[in-house]
Amino acid sequence: MLNASAADYIHVDVMDGVFVPNISFGIPVTEAIHRHSTKPLDVHLMIVNPELYLEAFVKAGAAILTVHVEACTHLHRTLQEIKGLGVRAGIALNPHTPIELLSEVLEDVDLVCVMSVNPGFGGQKFIEHSYAKVANLKEMILKKGCKTQIEVDGGVTDQNARRLMDAGADILVAGSFVFNAPDPIATIASLKAV
Ligand code: ZN
Repeated sequence: MLNASAADYIHVDVMDGVFVPNISFGIPVTEAIHRHSTKPLDVHLMIVNPELYLEAFVKAGAAILTVHVEACTHLHRTLQEIKGLGVRAGIALNPHTPIELLSEVLEDVDLVCVMSVNPGFGGQKFIEHSYAKVANLKEMILKKGCKTQIEVDGGVTDQNARRLMDAGADILVAGSFVFNAPDPIATIASLKAV
């Protein structure tokens, strides 16, 4: 179904039960999705010590590998490792994490994933402050003159998509809104059209 849709990526949420209070799936499931997918896999690692698993997830088919700033003691090194594996590098920020933490690495990342819910579960309510966070991050990116993309992850619907794009978002991640809809393909197309 997703292969036939207008989606640009398949966003893969990996949860370890330690970094977030939920467990989703890991490397074999990512590999299986990759085998069936014609879309690039955008793999979001909500796990502690992500540096231990970068190569495994690239081998499993990740085209983008996103790690959480809160889970990386040596973030710069981890980003270099991701790029060294030949894939795009992303950093995710929990809702409470200030964008200022990115000031020294922004030029080194391909995308910043702004969590607009607390990570761990689907179907949560969008945090309103996310608009301002996206707008401030966009300003920081423009000031630095880098090409970093902004991804918004959590609670995205047709009700907030336009405002997020206007604030500076480049990529919107929609889970429940798409998969709980009676017609997911039409819902993805409607999001693409906002
Ligand atoms: Zn995600």
